[in-house]
Amino acid sequence: MGNTNEMSMEFDSRSCNEGFARVAVAAFITQLNPTLEEVSDVKTAVSEAITNAIIHAYDKEVKKIRIDCKVVEHEMYVTVTDYGKGIENVEKAMEPFFTTKPEEDRSGMGFAFMEAFMDEVVVISELGKGCAVHMKKKVGVGTSPFM
Ligand code: ATP
Ligand code: MG
Repeated sequence: MGNTNEMSMEFDSRSCNEGFARVAVAAFITQLNPTLEEVSDVKTAVSEAITNAIIHAYDKEVKKIRIDCKVVEHEMYVTVTDYGKGIENVEKAMEPFFTTKPEEDRSGMGFAFMEAFMDEVVVISELGKGCAVHMKKKVGVGTSPFM
């Protein structure tokens, strides 16, 4: 399609990269004219997915995290991919308050936030292979602030 625009990036799963990665996605979608709230929603969702990859997928080992972002018309699509241990039961993992790390003060709300702040969240995972979190949101179609 002629009117799509794509961006991909890969970085080490260090927590110091989480801030830069979510800002990179936020900067990329400014072409859609998002509201501050939409930018904040996308940053929160992307941040949760990246944090999950850092904490759960690789268990403190440093490996790669990939982000693929695309805008089409007024939709933005973002996929956060890791090549870590994978999720055994995705449906269960996505339930609010479900966490496998309660001892590390995790509240099990990451996926719930992603679902609350984005229009669509689909998680594809294979045990031992990794996890891809696909998210989609319609952005920048509200009323113009100049009207
Ligand atoms: P919080 O996000 O509130 O700090 P949490 O990370 O445990 O807590 P979720 O983000 O909802 O909660 O994730 C739920 C569970 O899904 C995690 O506890 C973990 O077991 C599993 N999980 C999530 N992302 C991944 C991933 N990328 N790789 C492997 N397991 C994951
Ligand atoms: Mg989480």
